[in-house]
Amino acid sequence: MKPICPNCHSSHVIENIDTSMQSISEHVLSPKLLVSLSVGVCKYYKINPMIGMVAGSALATVINLAQQRLIQPPLIKAAVLPRYLCSTCQHSFSL
Ligand SMILES: [Zn+2]
Repeated sequence: MKPICPNCHSSHVIENIDTSMQSISEHVLSPKLLVSLSVGVCKYYKINPMIGMVAGSALATVINLAQQRLIQPPLIKAAVLPRYLCSTCQHSFSL
């Protein structure tokens, strides 16, 4: 069943998939990666790897909190409400 534009009642409606959000979630740094990266840096500079582990975990926590605030609300919104774009009047709507 094709959705119909609520503005001009045209059936020329395309699904508006937000690819920019998908690319952001693909490039999200994992906490594991950050910790191993920090430990690797500490080994390289002959610093106690424990410091790197703690620093990496702290950094991962900060990034996670930032991501939850910045990325999660639009992702949840996109998952719950599929967006549609009318190709006749450029009206964007969700069902
Ligand atoms: Zn329309």
